Amino acid sequence: MQLAPQSRHPIMNQLILHPRNMHAAINEASILDTLRDLGLIDQSFDYQGKTHYQPGDAFLERMIFLGCSPVIALGEPGLTGEDFCHVSLIPSAAEPRFWHGKNIKAPRCPHCRKPQTDWQTLITQWQTRQHDYRHRCAECDKETTIDELKWRQSAGFLRSGIIVWGIYEGEAVPSEGLMDALQACSGEKWTYFYLQS
Ligand SMILES: [Zn+2]
Repeated sequence: MQLAPQSRHPIMNQLILHPRNMHAAINEASILDTLRDLGLIDQSFDYQGKTHYQPGDAFLERMIFLGCSPVIALGEPGLTGEDFCHVSLIPSAAEPRFWHGKNIKAPRCPHCRKPQTDWQTLITQWQTRQHDYRHRCAECDKETTIDELKWRQSAGFLRSGIIVWGIYEGEAVPSEGLMDALQACSGEKWTYFYLQS
């Protein structure tokens, strides 16, 4: 199975933003300009040999934290540990990949809502059939593409996207303004999920 690359660190909590269309690639330069204009990101820095971005002035306006007093680590790597909030891009892969962490949940049928507990088989079939695969629900007998299943924000299919590091599952959601700006920049509707590894 092709999975998201594993970090060297034992715990990682991320929010992944990506185009709904799993085949869409992003223009990295224009996405970065958009994120800078929005104040989501600031200066770049080197993180494990890759270019990542410090949170910008408006990070807490673009990411809406849902708890009453969230513990948010903003700042320098090394000062606030590995789970500090910052941003990086997922460069466009040649093909869509299935991304999930240990917080994966059985997807639900979009028609009848029944959990599809055989999801690992579905993923294998999707991968072996070169991604040309429709799933038929055993409960309601309706067909869906694999990305139309309701993965409950615990997995995604993508070639490229944005990683917001240091966000725990369900802790924060992207603002409407951020999602609208990403759509305006890329011409694609965007969605998100949480990845814990
Ligand atoms: Zn169904």
